[in-house]
Amino acid sequence: MLPLARQRSVTVVGGGVSGIAAACALADRGYRVQLLEQRPYLGGRACSYEHPGTGEVIDNCQHILLGCCTNLIDLYRRLGVEDQIYWSSAITFLEPGGRRSVFEPSSMPAPLHTSASFLKAKCFSTADKVTIAAGIRAFLFQTPVDSEENFAQWLEKHHQTEQVIRRFWHPVLACALNEEPEFISVKYAARFFRQAFLFSAEGGKMGIPMLPLSELYGRAQQYMEERGGKVHLHTSVESFEPVGEQWRVRSEEGQVFHGDSVILALPFEALDRLILELPRNDASRQLSFDLGSFSHSPITSVHLWFDREITDLTHAALLDTTTQWLFHKSKLQPGHANGGRSYVELVISASKALMTMPRTEVIDLARRELELFFPEVAEAVLVKATVTKEMRATYSIRPMLDRVRPGAMSPWKNIYLAGDWTATGWPSTMESGVRSGYLAAEALARENQDTASFLVPDLAPTGWMRLLA
Ligand SMILES: Cc1cc2nc3c(=O)[nH]c(=O)nc-3n(C[C@H](O)[C@H](O)[C@H](O)COP(=O)(O)OP(=O)(O)OC[C@H]3O[C@@H](n4cnc5c(N)ncnc54)[C@H](O)[C@@H]3O)c2cc1C
Repeated sequence: MLPLARQRSVTVVGGGVSGIAAACALADRGYRVQLLEQRPYLGGRACSYEHPGTGEVIDNCQHILLGCCTNLIDLYRRLGVEDQIYWSSAITFLEPGGRRSVFEPSSMPAPLHTSASFLKAKCFSTADKVTIAAGIRAFLFQTPVDSEENFAQWLEKHHQTEQVIRRFWHPVLACALNEEPEFISVKYAARFFRQAFLFSAEGGKMGIPMLPLSELYGRAQQYMEERGGKVHLHTSVESFEPVGEQWRVRSEEGQVFHGDSVILALPFEALDRLILELPRNDASRQLSFDLGSFSHSPITSVHLWFDREITDLTHAALLDTTTQWLFHKSKLQPGHANGGRSYVELVISASKALMTMPRTEVIDLARRELELFFPEVAEAVLVKATVTKEMRATYSIRPMLDRVRPGAMSPWKNIYLAGDWTATGWPSTMESGVRSGYLAAEALARENQDTASFLVPDLAPTGWMRLLA
C-alpha cells in the first residue's frame, strides 16, 4: 500500500523536457500522473518531425548537452536512453581555408586540462592566447552576482579584442547562451563557463543525441504508462477551475481532466495567456507583470543533403562566418547514415538578422560558406535542403533576470510552475528544463508531506579548482 500522499493525482500541462521530467519523477514515486500536451509528439522545443518538403525526419534544431548537465543525464538514465548519446571530448575549431585547431583535455588537473591544446591552437595568435587567458582568469575564483553589467561590457573591461570575441567567446559562450554579448548576464556567462570548461574535463564533454529528439523524449510515454501514468497528446489546455479540493482542467478539444495538483510546465508566453483563465490575486498579478520582462532569442538551422561525403568531421565550430556550428548528422544519427553521402546541419545562434531573409537565400549563404571550409562542397551536388527558423527558441538570459524568475510555488494552491525560464540557476537549456521539472515535483511532494528529492547535484570541481572555485 502506497502512503496516502502518493496516491494523489497530478495533471502536468506541457510535454516539453520540464513537463516530462516532473511527470516521470512523480510517476516513479507512485503519484497518479496525467501529462497533457497540445502537439502530436513529446519534446516541446526539443523535438523532431517528418519535414513535408524533404520527407526526412529532422530535429527542429540540433540540441547538444554537456557533461555538466547532470539532471538531464539523470532523466536520460530514467528513460533508458543514456546510451543514445554520442559523447565527444574534442571540439574542432575550423578556419576558412580548412585549418583545424582541436581542443581536448589532457591529464593535467583542472583548470589546466585543456591548456595543452589551447597553447597549440593555430586559430589564435600568441597575443590572442594571452588576452583569452587574462579573460578566463577573471572567471577562475568566483561567479559574479547578477548585476546590470552585461557580458559585452565585461569583455571590454577585460580588454578582449574583436578577434578574440569573434573566435573564442562567441562560439563558446554566445552560442551556448544563444544571445549577443550585450544581452547576456555576466553571472550566467561566468557560471556556464566555469562548470563547462574550468571545473573538470567531465563537465565540458559534448553530448549529441543519436536518436531524433521526439523519439528520444517519446520514451517518456512508455516510462509513465509502466508506472500507471497516461500521456494525452493533441490536448491543448484552455481553462482551469477549482472544484472542491481539486482542479478541473479543460482542453480546447473538449476533454475534462481532474487532478489534486497541477504542474504548469509551459513556456513563459503560454503561461502568460493561461493566467487569464486562473483566479486573480495579488501574487498572480505580480507574476503576470514579471512575465513581461522575458524576451525571446531565435535560432536558425540549415539542413543540407549532399550526394557525397564532404568531410570526415562529426561536428565543428566554424569561425568567421554567419554559420557557427556544423553537425554531420549522417555520421551522428544512425537513422540518417546514407552510404557515404553527407547530411549536415548548420546552426546559427541568436540569428535575428536571418529571420526575414528568404529561405533560399539562407541556403545559398550556408552553402557558399561551407565551401570555404570544405572544398569538396564545390563539386558536390546539393540533393535537397531546408531551413528551420525558431523565433522563440530560448529566452534571453539578460542581466538581472533572476529578480523575476519565479520558483516552483505558484500564486494558486496546489498549482506549481516549471519551465526552463523559472528559477533554476541555469540559462535556457534542456538542463534548466529538467531541473525545473524536478524542483516542481519536489515542491508538490513537500506540500503533501512527502520528502522525495529528485534534483541531482552539480559535478564537483576537480584538480586545483577544488581549492580555487
Ligand atoms: C532551435 C533550438 C535550439 C536549441 N538548442 C539547445 C541546445 O543545443 N541545448 C539545450 O540544452 N537547449 C537547447 N534549446 C533550448 C531547449 O530546447 C529548451 O530550453 C527546453 O526544451 C525547454 O523545455 P521546457 O519544457 O521548459 O519548454 P518547452 O519545450 O517549450 O515545453 C512546453 C510544452 O508545453 C506545450 N504547451 C504549450 N501550451 C500548451 C497548452 N495550452 N496545453 C498543452 N500543452 C501546451 C508545448 O507544446 C510544449 O511542448 C534549443 C531550443 C531551440 C528551439
